[in-house]
Amino acid sequence: MKTAIFIEKRAGTERLRNVSLELTGKAAALMAPFKGEVVGIYVGDKLPEDSGDLFVYGMSRLVFYHNEHLKNLHSTAIKEVVVQFIQKEKPDIVLFGATHTGRDIAPLVASKIHTGLTADCTQLVIDDYKDKGKILYQIRPAFGGNILATIVTPDHRPMMATVREGVMPLPEHKADNPVKVEEFRPDFRDEWLRNEFLSIVPKKSKVDFSRANIIVSGGAGVGSRENFKLIFQLAEALNAEVGASRAAVDFGFVEKERQVGQTGSVVRPKLYIACGISGSIQHRAGMEESKKILAINKDPNAPIFSIAHLGLVGDLKEVVPLMIRYLREEG
Ligand SMILES: Cc1cc2nc3c(=O)[nH]c(=O)nc-3n(C[C@H](O)[C@H](O)[C@H](O)COP(=O)(O)OP(=O)(O)OC[C@H]3O[C@@H](n4cnc5c(N)ncnc54)[C@H](O)[C@@H]3O)c2cc1C
Repeated sequence: MKTAIFIEKRAGTERLRNVSLELTGKAAALMAPFKGEVVGIYVGDKLPEDSGDLFVYGMSRLVFYHNEHLKNLHSTAIKEVVVQFIQKEKPDIVLFGATHTGRDIAPLVASKIHTGLTADCTQLVIDDYKDKGKILYQIRPAFGGNILATIVTPDHRPMMATVREGVMPLPEHKADNPVKVEEFRPDFRDEWLRNEFLSIVPKKSKVDFSRANIIVSGGAGVGSRENFKLIFQLAEALNAEVGASRAAVDFGFVEKERQVGQTGSVVRPKLYIACGISGSIQHRAGMEESKKILAINKDPNAPIFSIAHLGLVGDLKEVVPLMIRYLREEG
């Protein structure tokens, strides 16, 4: 068996996106029982500086298609190159990060090679399916997160899926495979470039959940944008990042980029502090894999308490200032 991963670098940097490493680790674990191969495809003008890390997480080969036209993202050209790669390599499975680029390229590729694609998978499993042998079970929330749908592609190859950043944890076990990069200049046709390329200006985000050990999140229960300052103060005292529920974002307490959950970011910090958050299934989809969860809520029956390791029943407007004072004085 063979799994291919579409490798990306972070916009505005020369470094890999975390999701490329996460998918490599996951694919290596999926392929291990079958002694299968994990192959990466990177399309661009220069390899990311830390490409060697892919081999640490179990990649066997990285195929680098380079061409000056591919310096900037150009969907049609990249799609054509990925299709060439799939036709040559014939992988059983192709995985993309559910990033802006992955969400753009994966459907174009799937429709060109006439196969299925499941977006935003939260689990990937290989198992038997009827008389088809081993296939990929592509599992994702559906109907607003109320059910988990298991989707298969029994009759077409490759089986394709996208996965959001942060959903698959980086494996603790490392493979440390030797670095093996194969370089190609793709056959290029002028008509692939007929779309006019304007420019992509990466938005500088203030929020970086991937590096945060602690995240303090506020929900509708915080009550106002003014009160949300308490969440920022607690986060500052803990050297933490600030997150939010969708309700807090919809009420305008904080910006959308801080939203955690099914339609926000998926986070996995060492400690997640949920303040005034009820614990809807959609919010939990983004944070329930946190190592420890502390919930502060005035309703003792709030669903968040069913997943919290530690619960504090009380008014956050009283509890959070006490925590800040304690941390400032004692910390
Ligand atoms: C397709 C879809 C996608 C969605 N995606 C997301 C997503 O990505 N992320 C997300 O978060 N939601 C998402 N939602 C919305 C989700 O269903 C909930 O509406 C939302 O999570 C509720 O946010 P909340 O817990 O802050 O608000 P509420 O459910 O209103 O809960 C507020 C909580 O605050 C407590 N509270 C009130 N006052 C205080 C106080 N003074 N002190 C302490 N506690 C207090 C209350 O007891 C209550 O438990 C999505 C919904 C859909 C349908």
